[in-house]
Amino acid sequence: MPALISSCLIGIACRYDRSHSLVEEIVKKAQELQFIPICPEQLGGLPTPRSPANIVKGDGKGVLVGHARVLNSLGEDVTEAFIKGAQETLKLARIIGAKKAILKDKSPSCGLNTPYCETDTGYGLGVTAALLLSAGIEIVEINPEEKVRIGIL
Ligand code: SF4
Repeated sequence: MPALISSCLIGIACRYDRSHSLVEEIVKKAQELQFIPICPEQLGGLPTPRSPANIVKGDGKGVLVGHARVLNSLGEDVTEAFIKGAQETLKLARIIGAKKAILKDKSPSCGLNTPYCETDTGYGLGVTAALLLSAGIEIVEINPEEKVRIGIL
């Protein structure tokens, strides 16, 4: 069964600062798990490098219903790019029949419990994570420093 994976986790330098978050244990499982790499922020048309962004007045769920926005560190509103990236990611999931997405933590796009948002708990869904979950796609969140999670892939 194919699965989506955050491109930065397999070593693609697509993070905002043009770095990556390679997890070698994941790359070793690539054949077995049929990963399809995606970077929602790039799919939304944002450049690399780019200014880091934060969700204000809510989390990714709020962004999808128009209650929250995504602003970058320059104060620019990049909400539409984040939504487009989420939609393109979902489109890809449907094309390949993916029922699972392995996503990097702490991202306002990919995170399942990202701190880059404004909620009562201080954590929330990234925009892409929110859209994939609403479409019934299972998400496995990976903290590159916390190798124990790789075991559940
Ligand atoms: S966490 Fe997601 S949006 Fe951020 S660089 Fe990795 S793949 Fe792209």
